Amino acid sequence: MYVSRPQPLIAGNWKMNGVGASLGEAYMIAGGLGDTTARVAICPPATLVQRLAEVLADSAVLVGGQDCHAEEAGAFTGDVSAAQLADAGAALVILGHSERRAGHGETDELVARKVSAALRAGLEPIICVGETLDQRKGGQALAVVTGQVRGSLPAELADKRFSVAYEPVWAIGTGLTPTTPEIEEVHRAIRATLTSMFGAAGSGVAILYGGSVKPSNAAEILHADEVGGALVGGASLKAADFLGIIQAV
Ligand code: PEP
Repeated sequence: MYVSRPQPLIAGNWKMNGVGASLGEAYMIAGGLGDTTARVAICPPATLVQRLAEVLADSAVLVGGQDCHAEEAGAFTGDVSAAQLADAGAALVILGHSERRAGHGETDELVARKVSAALRAGLEPIICVGETLDQRKGGQALAVVTGQVRGSLPAELADKRFSVAYEPVWAIGTGLTPTTPEIEEVHRAIRATLTSMFGAAGSGVAILYGGSVKPSNAAEILHADEVGGALVGGASLKAADFLGIIQAV
């Protein structure tokens, strides 16, 4: 059972950005880690997972996928299985990102099945949750987020390493961020939900914040109560920006 205080995780989500020429940024990230105490991961598009894993083979930087199918294999044109990601060199996978929930109709139930598939393949899931602006304005943020945690996390996570990423939908790619007290309120609610679901093991889960994290706001966010790292989109594409966030841990 994974109970100790989690090591911070800083994960970059490259989304549908990057071609072979982008691997140089990853190489610079690996070379600039210094003596960080954080675990660092880069989640490139599926086309780059294998090449990135090769580039980073001798470094501490982990490679992750951005999604996987809930089934092991079969007639699912265009999809990628968890086992294929693992075979290509991934150690982690982002699941339930709001761009998947909104753009591909992913429900909590489907996300939970994908998490199970990831665990079967030996991947460490980063499970994303977060409210829309309307939900926040309507006072539903905590209910939405804790509901997503309950619905998207299958019971078999209990003895596995995983993280939950709180990503308010309205903060992703917008330059907007919640206030530090707002982040802490949601992270505390996620922690309470995790300990009610998994007991003491829930205290060992890293709860990441994601949504317009950049070098200039990283220190304040990363030192907020119950923030155990960051999921970083746009600012993970440039080595200097991503390293600035890693150095703020
Ligand atoms: C994300 O999409 O996971 C994300 C956090 O994006 P950004 O940092 O660009 O807001």
